[in-house]
Amino acid sequence: MSAHAIIVAELSARPDVAAARAAEVADWLLDRGIIELNRQRDTLRRPSEYNAGPFVSHVAPGFQLAASLADNGVDVIPERQVHHAGGNYREPECPGCGTALNTRRHMELIDLWLAGTEPAVACNQCGIRNLAGDWRGDFGVHVANLVVQFNNWPPLTDRFVGELRERLGPRPRLIYRHI
Ligand SMILES: [Zn+2]
Repeated sequence: MSAHAIIVAELSARPDVAAARAAEVADWLLDRGIIELNRQRDTLRRPSEYNAGPFVSHVAPGFQLAASLADNGVDVIPERQVHHAGGNYREPECPGCGTALNTRRHMELIDLWLAGTEPAVACNQCGIRNLAGDWRGDFGVHVANLVVQFNNWPPLTDRFVGELRERLGPRPRLIYRHI
């Protein structure tokens, strides 16, 4: 049912700080009226902890508050998880030269990352090594201890995405997921 999600993942958040930072970010979103607490949580149709708030249109101009039967809630998740772009997946690109990392190697890295610490891999083209999470792209895969996930929201303004990224920490990454 849930088709699209905009996920902002913070790669630097260690497990011991993820919950506190998640609470700060949720408070900031609540204070601005971008989200509000979902008081009628429903596992099937309204599973998210938060709903869109009264000022959602300030950050997602295409959002229609009363329009959708689909889940359009928001989750702030301070748990270690893999976040995958699903059907939107595109091979990430070398931050140095733009060469794509092939999918098989990328998935091997994600397995390693999930099992332990974030691995690095050298680019086939330029030879420079970068951490898995530093390969570029907004349609990839990351392992993160902290994310904010907007389910079935229309595009967010650049300004809001910038502010949210700053609040989350120094290594925020976007993932546009489609399932
Ligand atoms: Zn390269």
